[in-house]
Amino acid sequence: SKHFHVGPAGWFGRRIGGAVLRAVDDVSLRIMPGETLGLVGESGCGKSTLGRLLIRLLEASDGHVLFDGADITGLAPKQLRETRRGMQIVFQDPYGALNPRMTVEDIVMEPLVIHGAKPDAAARDKVAAMLERVGLSARAASRFPHEFSGGQRQRIGIARALILRPRFIVCDEAVSALDVSVQAQIVNLLQDLQQEMGLTYLFIAHDLSVVRHISDRVAVMYLGRIVELARKEELYAAPLHPYTQALLAAVPAPHPAGRAARRAARLRVAGDMPSAINPPPGCRFHTRCPHAMAICREVAPPLAETAPGHLAACHLLTKTH
Ligand code: SF4
Ligand code: MG
Repeated sequence: SKHFHVGPAGWFGRRIGGAVLRAVDDVSLRIMPGETLGLVGESGCGKSTLGRLLIRLLEASDGHVLFDGADITGLAPKQLRETRRGMQIVFQDPYGALNPRMTVEDIVMEPLVIHGAKPDAAARDKVAAMLERVGLSARAASRFPHEFSGGQRQRIGIARALILRPRFIVCDEAVSALDVSVQAQIVNLLQDLQQEMGLTYLFIAHDLSVVRHISDRVAVMYLGRIVELARKEELYAAPLHPYTQALLAAVPAPHPAGRAARRAARLRVAGDMPSAINPPPGCRFHTRCPHAMAICREVAPPLAETAPGHLAACHLLTKTH
């Protein structure tokens, strides 16, 4: 079947000193073609790692990643390069991701050249068409990244990500650094492009109102694990996991205006997230959960279907206590 899938035992390990940081642990996730799956959670919970793992910018230490139903986990570099055409990433900080010494034309053309195209007139035409499509003028081609605003730079980043006509895009905090009005423009652009080009998005963000706007389904991540996954209407109206409930309770009324409200809309949960190097045993949320029971300190709750299409990992919901 055609989908993007990581799991069932996929994790990404990174050694820090002698310890292994299991930034993403035992995550199983399926992304359907044409959908936008939102991925939320506090910074450091493993969202970005999961996104990079899916497109194999990082290697999973265990488990599998399927793309269009094919296992891409063990691909040799040459095959992987072919697969990569189909999957791209848009970063939070386009300025950091764009080479300041390259013109916009060269930046957007580079993926074509890496994949074997000649930097000729036909390639330049493709770049010009893509720049126009993302809302930049033809004159942008000969300029350098520093000559553009944050929103325009994000359009350059999007043009670069789309030039190979991929089907799957990881948007990693793609609008988080932008002002609210600019955010809306970029989100609208991403939605238009999705329609036109049949794109599938993994939309990683810590801002729950933006995720609500753009996503079809939303996954909530805590300390390297998915704790809840549901259609967005259901997740926002009736969150089941205590962590999701806490996140949503911290968000003020929709349509926050101004910087203060926007800051307040960011994820906020009492207490600090424990270290991912030495995560709490049992339910990883038990050190902060108002409902923690004895079993929570010992047994990790499985991510189980509580209603059709609604998954949550909490002992309160699975009647195992
Ligand atoms: Fe809280 Fe226990 Fe549920 Fe974890 S399993 S969220 S600690 S009630
Ligand atoms: Mg991140």
